[in-house]
Amino acid sequence: MASCDRAQGAAWHLENTYASLPTTFYSHVKPTRVRAPQVVVRNNALGASLGQDMNDLEGERGAATFAGNLLPEGAKPLAQAYAGHQFGHFTMLGDGRAVLLGELVTPLGCRLDIQLKGAGRTPYSRGGDGRATLGPMLREYIMSEAMQALGVPTSRSLAVVTTGETVFRDTPLPGAILTRVAASHIRVGTFQYAAHYCSPAELKSLADYTIRRHFAEIAKTEGSYLSFLQAVIKRQAELIAKWQLVGFVHGVMNTDNMAVSGETIDYGPCAFMDNYDPATVFSSIDQNGRYAYGHQPRIAAWNLARLAETFLPLLHHSEEEAVGIANDVIGHFPVLYKQAWLSGMRGKLGIFNEEEADLLLAEDLLALMQEQNADYTNIFLALTLDERSEMEFFSSTVSLAWQARWQERLRRQPQSGPKIKQLMQACNPVVIPRNHRVEESLFAAVTHQDYSLFENLLAALSAPFTADPKYSHYRAAPSPSSHPYKTFCGT
Ligand code: AMP
Ligand code: MG
Repeated sequence: MASCDRAQGAAWHLENTYASLPTTFYSHVKPTRVRAPQVVVRNNALGASLGQDMNDLEGERGAATFAGNLLPEGAKPLAQAYAGHQFGHFTMLGDGRAVLLGELVTPLGCRLDIQLKGAGRTPYSRGGDGRATLGPMLREYIMSEAMQALGVPTSRSLAVVTTGETVFRDTPLPGAILTRVAASHIRVGTFQYAAHYCSPAELKSLADYTIRRHFAEIAKTEGSYLSFLQAVIKRQAELIAKWQLVGFVHGVMNTDNMAVSGETIDYGPCAFMDNYDPATVFSSIDQNGRYAYGHQPRIAAWNLARLAETFLPLLHHSEEEAVGIANDVIGHFPVLYKQAWLSGMRGKLGIFNEEEADLLLAEDLLALMQEQNADYTNIFLALTLDERSEMEFFSSTVSLAWQARWQERLRRQPQSGPKIKQLMQACNPVVIPRNHRVEESLFAAVTHQDYSLFENLLAALSAPFTADPKYSHYRAAPSPSSHPYKTFCGT
């Protein structure tokens, strides 16, 4: 593997706490030099929040840094080892094409991973080439930044470079590298790797490291492993509720794609649902709908049960006792999820106080949407902006009855109309990354090197709760197609 230069007076100074873990958890590996890197997208706002002067990363220097040709000061690049259940089957995996350069501590004191995705082969590449292509990296960039603006915890995207090299998939494609920023890349699968392939002491060191890094408040408490498990479950329940509330379908919720930090990671065949339907699946490889929209909460609980299994030795010396404890904790997931989801749904409906029948009110609206093939985002938006008369959905007898119930419900709280509207506007996005818009922007960028649609969509998605007339064309749902939208595992 060709090596990289060390930056002189580099813009970043990275730290490497992950490298202090036992070496079984990673392999030292440098990014493989690429021929002619060029920055095609750069996230200056994110750079600024990281405390980085993005002006230092202009031109060739920036391109070389984001490509891994030039290593930031302090970088100790490594690929992380992990395993995972992929569509239910356990496999040894690891970063096959990603290199963790190190960690950056932001001005606010957050420690964040800086990872290059598509940086070349690693000991975990199995038959793969270690590379990524432009379309999927731009896709991850736009989807992750959209999720961030929608208020969903997520990894971020700092830059995409093209490598000047061709990557062969079904056809020759332009190679690219994404600079990904995340709270960490510790996955459920990292714990599965530890439990399967490492010693109990190594598993404990991973757990202790993760607790210190993500759950410092419980690090010193009695029974911190149980508290850790509870905390991960709570964050995941809240995360999945947010996905459901915005209509996000991850598409490949394998245990290796679930971060214990509670952030959304590994954007592959993900997409946003248009018409409300729990059976919505976009990924071409998800033929049985394992990861369908409506299954996501259940799958998250299944994945967390796999995490809990890895933890048994840390929970109790008696396996039987440990299983009992773990089952109790996992059993709490549906309750936490429902609470988080219902609270979000109340916001979407403009409801401030709590009544038991709120759940039914929300469920009845969703059932109506499903029956009438209605657009999930735009129905909530019409309720928010009082544009009901413009949509057929609201004219049927059942729908009118539902609206009367909803209006009555709103009257049973002290908040005024403007307050209700304000809440609904904060909870119901105007713009989501609709599949046809994402595709058209990627097509223009990849095929014609025209980034204008991409930049425009990105700008609209950066303020998703604002009804800006300039971006009104992004509100429209796609016209019905005889070919349902399909996504392909982003490589
Ligand atoms: P993903 O589907 O992106 O979650 O990846 C699943 C596994 O395959 C991970 O271990 C990746 O690192 C690995 N992988 C995906 N694409 C490649 C590639 N082009 N070269 C090597 N490994 C890859
Ligand atoms: Mg993955």
